[in-house]
Amino acid sequence: MSFLELKSLTKNFGGLCAVDGFSLDIAKGSVNALVGPNGCGKSTLFNLITGTIRPDSGEVLFAGVNITGRPPHEIARLGIGRKFQVPAIFDELTVRENLIVASRKQNDRTAQADILAQIHLEDQADTLAGELAHGQKQWLEIGLLLAQAPALILLDEPTAGMTAPETRATAELIHRINRDRGLTVLVIEHDMGFIEHLACPVHVMSKGKILKSGNFSEIRNDADVKALYFGT
Ligand code: ADP
Ligand code: MG
Repeated sequence: MSFLELKSLTKNFGGLCAVDGFSLDIAKGSVNALVGPNGCGKSTLFNLITGTIRPDSGEVLFAGVNITGRPPHEIARLGIGRKFQVPAIFDELTVRENLIVASRKQNDRTAQADILAQIHLEDQADTLAGELAHGQKQWLEIGLLLAQAPALILLDEPTAGMTAPETRATAELIHRINRDRGLTVLVIEHDMGFIEHLACPVHVMSKGKILKSGNFSEIRNDADVKALYFGT
């Protein structure tokens, strides 16, 4: 059974069809990447999954439950966490304090240590979040998601503005949380180098629907994808 099932989702904004009969099945415990040109509907799709906006038609099933149209806080409580493009962290708190605020439990040092190791910030627990490097802030925000113990996380361009080493470290981080926590991950990404490092199923989106799904080399060598995404 698929863990996240998107069934023919459609969303129009006025005359613009942002998401157009989009269907996708995500298996429990898998990592999947969603790529596609700017404006093809990727972030809107995340908004539909997390309840920020309602679809005009279609359904979102999570762990077999129809969550279509439910409010965002309810969907978050069911176990779907989402990272936005701009990190929402508390600059004036330390890394550890940020984790404590995000956690539903109290000050659980073991849980914090696990998260800190997974987000490459084990030596930064007492650093003010505002003093972290750009890439580290992005990782901390992933840590804040982990503190809420989700079952599925949606990452919207997690490597935006990162250096090449930070980008590689982010691919490792995603693999680690997937492996260690059994977390299901769906990531929107532009950076094809990052997608190659992720080595996961890739779904190419164009004009609100799936153009092609496959592994990185299948996608990279597909004529339609080349024309759309690589402009060759
Ligand atoms: P992507 O994330 O793939 O770059 P988006 O999902 O953000 O694309 O946007 C898809 C299309 O929908 C774009 O043309 C965008 O301008 C439009 N759009 C997104 N959100 C809204 C909104 N709330 N109101 C009107 N148009 C929107
Ligand atoms: Mg977007």
